[in-house]
Amino acid sequence: MEYVQLGKTGLRVSKLCFGGLVIGPLQVNLTIDEGANVIARALELGVNFIDTAELYDTYPHIREAIRKTNKKPIVASRCYAYTREGAAQSLEKARKELDMDVIDIFGLHEQESRLTLRGHREALEYFVNAKEKGIIKAVSVSTHNIEVVEACAEMPEVDVIHPLVNVAGIGIGDGTIEEMLNAVKKAYDAGKGIYSMKPFGGGNLINRFEECVNFLFSIPYIHSIAIGMQSVEEVEINEEIFEKRYVPEELKTRIKNIKKKLHIDYWCEGCEKCIERCKQKALEIVDGKAKVNYDKCILCGYCASACPQFAIKMQ
Ligand code: SF4
Ligand code: SF4
Repeated sequence: MEYVQLGKTGLRVSKLCFGGLVIGPLQVNLTIDEGANVIARALELGVNFIDTAELYDTYPHIREAIRKTNKKPIVASRCYAYTREGAAQSLEKARKELDMDVIDIFGLHEQESRLTLRGHREALEYFVNAKEKGIIKAVSVSTHNIEVVEACAEMPEVDVIHPLVNVAGIGIGDGTIEEMLNAVKKAYDAGKGIYSMKPFGGGNLINRFEECVNFLFSIPYIHSIAIGMQSVEEVEINEEIFEKRYVPEELKTRIKNIKKKLHIDYWCEGCEKCIERCKQKALEIVDGKAKVNYDKCILCGYCASACPQFAIKMQ
């Protein structure tokens, strides 16, 4: 496994980052033990970087994987807090549930614009202060938007950026993949740690798997690539790809048959909460029920967390 310095954070992370969204309740919903086994395999194979978020509800899985392996990975997490109190609660929750005194990387989740960054200023300042006290080591911002990457490139208080990058630009909220890469390069040159998300557009680009992987390997200004993995087999495949930098023929055939889809059950009541939650604008109400636009959906599963009827599932 290749390891790199994550910008100026002083953290040395594996090129492959374990994306923690998929194992949790928003997606395949593994038990704590099952999820821990998947993470543990990644740790055994040399992955030392785990990405998660308060929303993903996977702190217990990570803690259990650490207990099982006795390995201490670098953990990045984030939250939606915008007040000082909210930020304090979220950071405390992460420390408690992960059983860690110090969280390596912590910050703001899913920022959409300079305006939302301003709206979360109080929380960001709390995290900067927590870094000064040694409770976190680096302050991060995650985003699907070019404008936010550009803004963070110029913010000395932001150490790490987690942008959406894939070959087709699926999920980028405000421009093309070329524009996103320009912004990411600017941030990298400014010394920010960069680890990307959604390499396969949330599953939409799985049929272009090899192209997606080669695209990301060709970008010299991304330190680490987060990939969601839901089984030990997927961990082993990804480790092999990152080790050898090529996709085995047999895997290409197998991957072509994988399909992932958002499903909305018949008991949907049309309350629109999922629509408010979906930043991709991939949902609408048709005949009183939520309907997905598959061209816009990046299969993040975030809408499922907003549904009071538990009507949304990833299948
Ligand atoms: S949040 Fe759930 S119940 Fe409400 S519209 Fe969406 S799917 Fe339907
Ligand atoms: S519809 Fe749901 S899964 Fe699809 S992009 Fe929107 S929030 Fe994500």
